[in-house]
Amino acid sequence: HAAHQQSSLWSEYQAGSDEAYLRRLQILQALPEAIERRDLHLHYQPKLASASGQVLGVEALVRWQHQQLGVVRPDEFIPLAEQSGDILRVSRWVVETALNQQQLWLEQGYKLHMAINLSAVDLQSEQLVEFIQAQLQQRHLPPQQLTLEVTESAVMADPQLATARLQQLRAIGVKVALDDFGTGYASLAQLKQLPIDELKLDQSFIRELPTNSQDQVIVHSTLALAHALGLQLVAEGVEEAAAWQLLRDFDCDTVQGYYFSRPLAAPELIHWLQQQAPQLQQALQQKESEQ
Ligand code: C2E
Ligand code: MG
Ligand code: MG
Ligand code: MG
Repeated sequence: HAAHQQSSLWSEYQAGSDEAYLRRLQILQALPEAIERRDLHLHYQPKLASASGQVLGVEALVRWQHQQLGVVRPDEFIPLAEQSGDILRVSRWVVETALNQQQLWLEQGYKLHMAINLSAVDLQSEQLVEFIQAQLQQRHLPPQQLTLEVTESAVMADPQLATARLQQLRAIGVKVALDDFGTGYASLAQLKQLPIDELKLDQSFIRELPTNSQDQVIVHSTLALAHALGLQLVAEGVEEAAAWQLLRDFDCDTVQGYYFSRPLAAPELIHWLQQQAPQLQQALQQKESEQ
């Protein structure tokens, strides 16, 4: 009986992994055409000043809707695109599309900072810096209104190369953020030398912030560290009012998360800016006047 149970578990495991393998294969096959088929979209998630609730800008997050595969999450296809090399084209498309949107919003009277995610493979590209600069200049967009987010693990894949590239990017005036901070392996010595403007503390430290005293210690001391190094701290994954309250108490600079808004398509983002964003600030002011 035990042997039977074991073998049926084994076949389940095999079937599961075959399915996952097949899906990865299908994603790899479909990737090169995703852009031409207009299957990629960008969603935008607001980033807010923690103290005031003022909307500072948005982070562009890529979405892929495939006819057969359904919604393919970036966590699923970005690593595969990195392996296949398709990431370079995806990233170019993301930069062009996000900057087009930023320019359009500017014309409509919405001045929003734009944050774009780059991968380790993008940092290896010799053309990256020139490309970004050209895209900004074509649209007459100020480089200071663009942040490029790279994960701590992407930087740690080749710290020397990443440092040189990030330096070049900052030299053209764009800002750099270290994403998912706390999940990679940057030493304090390396952190001190990295040419960055912003630390984005990984969501795993924020998710249970109101109830987890260890997370509170981590967030509090990371804030002290960030500020001592002259860096802004962004908390991502804020899902509750209580987490935002703590982050305000801790003097965190910037907040982002489902509590404020999920990533939204451009028209919905504008709707959110007009409807929800003012309410957030009003609620905060009311709260402060009560205290
Ligand atoms: P990330 O850059 O750290 O982005 C934050 C992720 O957390 C996003 O997932 C966002 O939707 C999600 N998120 C935001 N607030 C909350 C919250 O309060 N609770 C929870 N549970 N989740 C929240 P998404 O859009 O699925 O993206 C996942 C990752 O994929 C990103 O992590 C980023 O590393 C990568 N990615 C997304 N778009 C791009 C892109 O255009 N280029 C590159 N290279 N990578 C991208
Ligand atoms: Mg990011
Ligand atoms: Mg992150
Ligand atoms: Mg992430």
